[in-house]
Amino acid sequence: MSFENLNLPEALSKALQAAGYTEPTEVQATAIPPAMAGKDLMVSSRTGSGKTASFMLPALARILAARAQPQNPANRQRGPRVLVLCPTRELAMQVAKAASDYGRFVPGLRVATIVGGVPYGAQLAALRGALDILIATPGRLIDHMGSGKAQLGQLEMLVLDEADRMLDMGFIDDIRHIAAATAPQRQTVMYSATFAGTIGGLAAELLRDPQRIEVSAQTEAHGDIEQRLHWADDFAHKNALLDHILTDRAVDQALVFTSTQRDADWLADRLHEMGHSVASLHGGMPQGRRNRVLQGLRSRHLRVLVATDVAARGIDVPTISHVINFGLPMKEEDYVHRIGRTGRAGRSGLAVTLAERRDSGMIHRIQRFTTQRIPAATIEGLEPKRAEPRPLPPRVAAPGHKPGGKTFGPRPGGKPFKPAGKVFSKSGPRPAR
Ligand code: AMP
Repeated sequence: MSFENLNLPEALSKALQAAGYTEPTEVQATAIPPAMAGKDLMVSSRTGSGKTASFMLPALARILAARAQPQNPANRQRGPRVLVLCPTRELAMQVAKAASDYGRFVPGLRVATIVGGVPYGAQLAALRGALDILIATPGRLIDHMGSGKAQLGQLEMLVLDEADRMLDMGFIDDIRHIAAATAPQRQTVMYSATFAGTIGGLAAELLRDPQRIEVSAQTEAHGDIEQRLHWADDFAHKNALLDHILTDRAVDQALVFTSTQRDADWLADRLHEMGHSVASLHGGMPQGRRNRVLQGLRSRHLRVLVATDVAARGIDVPTISHVINFGLPMKEEDYVHRIGRTGRAGRSGLAVTLAERRDSGMIHRIQRFTTQRIPAATIEGLEPKRAEPRPLPPRVAAPGHKPGGKTFGPRPGGKPFKPAGKVFSKSGPRPAR
């Protein structure tokens, strides 16, 4: 399958060429044709699979088609044709970047981002002008709708990105409210890891005769992710393990996860005192500072970022070589999101989990969810004094029950985690060190 089969407008093919993409990923190959035909879609495909382009390219094609009909009175509209709702500011920024990257040859493309935590002024100015694509987090968009500044009556396409996450964050009524303000004949595409329960109900409310697309993990845009588990006797031991790992020269850039915002600040301070170029990133920080931190990571001024789950969502920095779980996630699927921050753009990555004995329940749940054992490892001189907790007996799956990993099937233990079978890399393989 090549991009030519997708019959994309010239301006988009040129942008893909400029981005160095040679062939569509699976989600792009399966979702772009029905999306371009105007169908509603329910898509399950993880971050890293190229899903952003799978909705952005059809959205841009729609805008180009409208540009080609200058006489059409609809072209005088001010409100956006396309609205993308995202759970977090970081993801919204990333989608906005994709819109300008893939839309770089779309003449006069107007994209605005409306997210919380930033001053209203610039957003109001963006909303006053004519708009093609609006990318927003639900809460702030609702604010602008309330004051009459955001008009959605002429919306042609609504995209719900990471809809499951938006529901987790309590946005369901906001999404309903936003959808109700749009034209009922709009096209709606919804991306979610699962469509079970409430999320399926919301899909039934918002989508018309949708096509379901589920992309297996075999085609994600990831390289190999090797996983390791270090058992720590106590908190001090965990810190010593982290310090040892971070001094390894193989660490290009590391993303260290903590369970709470306070831990993130505390750990970043501690590592800073040790001389690391480090910063924390969490939802309690003002947006300006969060942007500067991410910029520092991209420009390599930072080598270590200490982050919480929500803040790290959507971070796409290909030079992150290590993900370190210093505090375990609250939910097992967050483990998969976390480790997917490394092994980007076809490179390989290492995901290290530091666990105390009291974390063994969560370790077990993660292993059940991913249907993989995380191989235990030790560091010479820092071996745990206490024996490794015994693995819990395997649970017999109920008939029809697929093991927790909704997005990828069982694989033999000990093998590198590879959300992406197919490696397509813009920057080529990681050079040997
Ligand atoms: P996403 O799942 O949208 O977050 O995309 C993950 C990464 O894959 C991003 O860095 C994209 O730039 C990259 N990507 C998306 N589509 C392709 C493609 N067809 N070929 C190569 N890289 C891609």
